[in-house]
Amino acid sequence: MRMNNGICPKCGSKLATAIESESSSDGVKTVRYVSRCRGCNEVNIIEEVIIRRQGNHLEILLKK
Ligand SMILES: [Zn+2]
Repeated sequence: MRMNNGICPKCGSKLATAIESESSSDGVKTVRYVSRCRGCNEVNIIEEVIIRRQGNHLEILLKK
């Protein structure tokens, strides 16, 4: 996934960046850094981090 200088590749509108996070019941937390188009609602995931609890410590996985 590539940044497009803050401009949507589909419609040319400005992109807004946002951080979304969600937790599932099995203790996995996903944090996403995304850019979202104000015009067509296209969402690009810039970076995704998955945080998993493993016993007493946390495992952090970086996805791109
Ligand atoms: Zn767009």
